[in-house]
Amino acid sequence: LIELENVSVYFRSERNRNERVGALVGMNLKIAPGEIIAVVGESGCGKTTLGKVITDIYQPTEGRILYKGKDLRSLTRQEYREYRLAVQMIHQDSYAALNPNRTIFQSLSLPLLQHRLVRNRQQAWDELYNLFGEIGLTPPEQFLEKYPHQLSGGQRQRILLARALSVKPSLIVADEPVSMVDVSLRISLLDLMARANKKYGISFVYITHDLGTARYIAHHGRIAVMYLGRMVEMNQIQAALDHPAHPYFHALIAAVPEADPTLRGERLRQLPLRSFDMPSVVNAPPGCKFHPRCPYAEEVCAREEPGLREYEGGMVACHLVEKIRAGGREGK
Ligand code: SF4
Repeated sequence: LIELENVSVYFRSERNRNERVGALVGMNLKIAPGEIIAVVGESGCGKTTLGKVITDIYQPTEGRILYKGKDLRSLTRQEYREYRLAVQMIHQDSYAALNPNRTIFQSLSLPLLQHRLVRNRQQAWDELYNLFGEIGLTPPEQFLEKYPHQLSGGQRQRILLARALSVKPSLIVADEPVSMVDVSLRISLLDLMARANKKYGISFVYITHDLGTARYIAHHGRIAVMYLGRMVEMNQIQAALDHPAHPYFHALIAAVPEADPTLRGERLRQLPLRSFDMPSVVNAPPGCKFHPRCPYAEEVCAREEPGLREYEGGMVACHLVEKIRAGGREGK
């Protein structure tokens, strides 16, 4: 459905306008119809930038994005319009994502009317009414007639999901969709997304810093682990959680609180990070970007940046993964 070929996004450094800062570097990713990919990593790792290039909010500085095998920049007007409807994004901040001066019906009917997905306002009302009923926003008329500030964070996130679903997309990029929602409502939102995946075959790119929700929604899908703008590991999610390959992913799993012990293998508990501060992309270290924090780092790590390569059914970017696996995971 979507393919990223060696995509990088650089910004100009504020400190020095001649300096380029890599928010996303050398990203290769194929998203198949109907699949769920969880993208995990700490703040500033490039997850949101990835979501924004998939949805063409940011354009790559290098590389290209293909939609159904065609470069986005060479799509005809009609094909680009189709892409814009097929690929939707749900943002983390549901309040900012909805126009405060419009009722929910006014906001959600606009794209339907603009793209002629419905003939008139009455048909838009009927479509949204049915959709709201389907995703538990009942009675629908009460939600359709309200303004964003009259709704809770969980209700607004459901409405953003309804807005994305209303144009019958093929892919939804969900950027931290449940992080600002009450814990008790998170599972129901994730279930709605899983149901949309199953019922309509919609692909999801689920962006999060939370491994628990990543595993919940993508338990049959893949996980991509990001660090300082690079993908450092990619695999089927359960295989990756059972046998994490990259030392950074070990550390992420080890950092999950005790409340979710199934995410924390016994052998990973003691993995010590040398520093808990993630370097900024502005001052990215040379070589492997993780080396200042990595307990396994050797001289080669500071010198050469490892590329992503195949390893045990997945992909990993680490010079020493075989050695680490052979020698145990306790670190130096
Ligand atoms: Fe650690 Fe070296 Fe692997 Fe980077 S390449 S993760 S520094 S062992």
